Amino acid sequence: MAPVAGRAVLSLVCIAVCAAVAPRPAARAQAPSRAWTIVGGQLADGSGRPLRQANVRIAGGRIAAVGAVTPHEGDAVIDAKGLVVAPGFIDIHNHSASELADDPAAESQVSQGITTVVLGPDGSSPWPIGEYLAERRRNPAAVNVAVMVGHATVRRLVMNDDYKRAARPEEIARMAALVEQGMREGAVGLSSGLEYEVGGYAETGELVELAKVAARYGGIYMSHIRDEADKAFEAFREAIAIGERARVPVEISHIKLGTVGVWHKAAQAIALIDAARARGVDVTADAYPYNAWSSTITVLVPDKRYDYPPSVEKALADVGGAQNVLIVRHAAHPEYEFRTLDAVARDRQITPVDLFIQIVRDGGAGVVCTSMIDEDIRAFYQQRWVMVGSDGGINARHPRGAGTFPKVLGRYVREQHWLTLPDAIRKMTGAPAKRLKLRDRGTIEKGRVADVVLFDPRTVVDRSTFSDPSALSSGVEKVFVSGELVWDRGRPAGGRSGQVIGSASRVSNSFTAR
Ligand SMILES: [Zn+2]
Repeated sequence: MAPVAGRAVLSLVCIAVCAAVAPRPAARAQAPSRAWTIVGGQLADGSGRPLRQANVRIAGGRIAAVGAVTPHEGDAVIDAKGLVVAPGFIDIHNHSASELADDPAAESQVSQGITTVVLGPDGSSPWPIGEYLAERRRNPAAVNVAVMVGHATVRRLVMNDDYKRAARPEEIARMAALVEQGMREGAVGLSSGLEYEVGGYAETGELVELAKVAARYGGIYMSHIRDEADKAFEAFREAIAIGERARVPVEISHIKLGTVGVWHKAAQAIALIDAARARGVDVTADAYPYNAWSSTITVLVPDKRYDYPPSVEKALADVGGAQNVLIVRHAAHPEYEFRTLDAVARDRQITPVDLFIQIVRDGGAGVVCTSMIDEDIRAFYQQRWVMVGSDGGINARHPRGAGTFPKVLGRYVREQHWLTLPDAIRKMTGAPAKRLKLRDRGTIEKGRVADVVLFDPRTVVDRSTFSDPSALSSGVEKVFVSGELVWDRGRPAGGRSGQVIGSASRVSNSFTAR
C-alpha cells in the first residue's frame, strides 16, 4: 500500500485533475484506493469495435464500470472531451529487461501509452526467470512486465562456448528442462533469435523440441526468424513448420522484407502465412513502424563471413549501399556513432567494405539500417494478424524505442489512413493480450485491470528521430497502470504500479492440440 506521503502526493494530483470540476470532500480523498471517473471521452475498447461515447470508472485498480456512468462521491473526475480512452498498450517485443531497474519510471515507454512490456525477445532473456520476476515484484516499475525464456540464453547455459554446432539430443534435453523451469517460474513463452550468433547454430528440430515445452505450459514460440533478407521466405517456412510440428502458437517478431531482392513481396509473404493459418497453424506477427532496422552489424552478412570482402560487398549492396547503414554504437570508435558507414569510410579514405571488416574486428557495432519499403510495411500492418510491437525499449538507439505507438497513431492512422483508429488500438491492446492469453488486460471492460490510456487523436505523434532517438512522443495525456496514474500531461506522475504478469494472470492452459 502507498505510504502516507504517497497518498498526499496523490491527493495533490487529484486536486489538480479535479480543478475543472467540483472538488470532492477531503474525507473521501483519503480512502485507501483511488477512484476515478473519466467522462466525455471516445472509447476505443481494444476489440476493434468503432469508437463510442462512454464514461469509464476506475476503482480499486480495476475497471469498475463502462458506459453511462456518473462519478461516485469522492471520485476524481477527468474530463476526457476530445480524447480517446483506450486500454494500455501492450508491447509484445520490448528490450528493457536490464534497464527497468535503473529507470523504473520508464518515461520513454509510458509517454507512448505503453503499460505492459514483454521482455526477453530475440532469444535472449534474463535468467533465472523466477529471480528476475521476483526482483520486479520487489521494485515495481511504472509498467507491467512479462518475460519470455530466451532460446540462446538456455543454449549457452548448456553448451557454454561450444555452441557453434548443432546440439546433441542430450543437450537438447537439458535445454528443454531449462525451458520448463523458465515456464514454471512464470515465462509466457520461448523466444528465439536465429539470425544471431548463439541461436543461429540451432537446427529446426532443436527449436521444435523446446517449443513443445513452451506449448505444454500454454506459452507461445516467438521468433526473430533465421533470415529477414533474401532468404526470408525460407525463414517464414521454418517458423511455420515449428508451429506445426510443436503445435505451438507462433509469433513472427518484427516481420519485414529487408533487402532489395525481396522488396515488394509482402503479398507473397502474406499468402504463405494465410495458407498456414487456413490449415490450422496459429501464426501471427508483429511489426514496428519504421523502414529501418536496428541490430548488430554482423547480421548484415548472412553467410557469417564477416572478413571476406565479396560477402561484405554483397551484404552492403543488398541493403541499397553503405549510405543506408548508420553506426549507432561502436565502443572502439565512439566518434563513428550516428554517422553512416559510407560517410566514415569517405573520411578515412578507405572503402566501406574495409571499414566494415575493421569495425567487426574492433568488437562490432550497433547499426540502424534503412532497407525496408513503406509499401511492404503497410501491407503487413493491414493484416488482421499483425500487431504493433516496438522491438525498442528504454535507451534504444533507434527512434522506435520512444516513438513506435504514437507513430502508428499519428502517421499511419491520422495522416496516411493505412488503418482505422479502432483497428490500430486493437493491434496494440486486444490482439497482443489475446496472443499472450492475458486474462484481464487488453480491453476496457468491467472487471479488467485498469491499464488505461487517454490520448488526443488530433495531436498524438512520435518525435524521436534517427539522430535524436530518445525524444519523447506527444499527445498521450494520461496513463493508468493498475488504476494508478503513471503519466500525466507530459510528465511522469510517480506511480510504480506495474505488476508482474506470470502464470496467475494468464488464462489457464487448456493444452489444446490443433
Ligand atoms: Zn529481433
